Amino acid sequence: MPLRVVLLGPPASGKGTQGRLLAERRGLPYLSTGRQLRQEVESGTEIGRRAESFLRAGEYVPDDLALDLAARWMKQAGHGWVLDGFPRTVPQARELDAWLGPWASELVAVSLEADSRELERRVAERLECPDCGWSGRRGKVAGERCPRCASALAVRDDDELENFLSRLRAFGELTQPVAAYYQGMGRLRLVNGEGSRNEVCARVQEAVGKD
Ligand code: AMP
Repeated sequence: MPLRVVLLGPPASGKGTQGRLLAERRGLPYLSTGRQLRQEVESGTEIGRRAESFLRAGEYVPDDLALDLAARWMKQAGHGWVLDGFPRTVPQARELDAWLGPWASELVAVSLEADSRELERRVAERLECPDCGWSGRRGKVAGERCPRCASALAVRDDDELENFLSRLRAFGELTQPVAAYYQGMGRLRLVNGEGSRNEVCARVQEAVGKD
């Protein structure tokens, strides 16, 4: 049975890091809608132009935009995947279930849990690779270069405090109900997102089930 995982969690809970690790270990394609949107903005595409003001304000982009992005990606992704940051609202979750049809019940939603003070600390220290999306902490990486592709790491435009707080609010209002939606169907796994990359990864692997 192909593994279909969606990662839920507040900003800086480790969705990107854990999503990428899980996808690598299970040989699955991985989509981060947030990263994809940042790249669309950077490249000045139609989607990027529509998304830009929302990203700058720390607000979610409209559902139709997120759905459009995810649908395009999923058409070529095959049956198993790891989704990071999609679905983020209940209408998006319902639409994803509709796309999956009878396989919707196989989807596993992993919610990474972390204390909001810990999230704030992580955001203040976070650096991201603009080329491959690797993310890590300031002062922890030699020469502040990406350990995977050697590009210079940078602060994410949306990681200043006000933007982070706005994203945290959006998470509470719009994404917590997604966790409740999956929980109601027995598809939610809560995972403690605090600890080292490898510790959290082991918990995520456990939550989604062994190979
Ligand atoms: P992330 O990289 O996951 O923190 O996402 C960065 C930003 O992209 C979010 O704060 C939202 O503005 C936007 N975004 C990413 N995925 C979605 C989605 N599924 N629905 C709405 N907005 C999204």
